Amino acid sequence: MSTKNPDVVVPPPSPLTALTLAEMHVRRWEVKATCNRCGIKLRANLPSMIRTFGPDAVWWGQTPRCPGLECESGVLHYAARALRGGSWVSMTQPPGELEQTAYRNRQRAYPGPR
Ligand SMILES: [Zn+2]
Repeated sequence: MSTKNPDVVVPPPSPLTALTLAEMHVRRWEVKATCNRCGIKLRANLPSMIRTFGPDAVWWGQTPRCPGLECESGVLHYAARALRGGSWVSMTQPPGELEQTAYRNRQRAYPGPR
């Protein structure tokens, strides 16, 4: 069989490798949001999220209100995958000390304005 398992070609997302919106965007991760109430599924647009919340915003652990018109008190749960066919990784866990330290210790990969 093929050895081209997508999770082997590119490791699945982790807050250890990309903590901020800009880092996720640089790695070209695909991000989706699912409402825990109405089940609406949204494709997250990282460039527009960066414009709105800034490149250093951390999305791990974020559960914003569902934008669904008739959705009462639903919240969005985010998930990311590193490439098509790769595993979706839930982003609902907020980053811990380990992830924040790794972020502080690495070179900023985002060359654009902030
Ligand atoms: Zn909803």
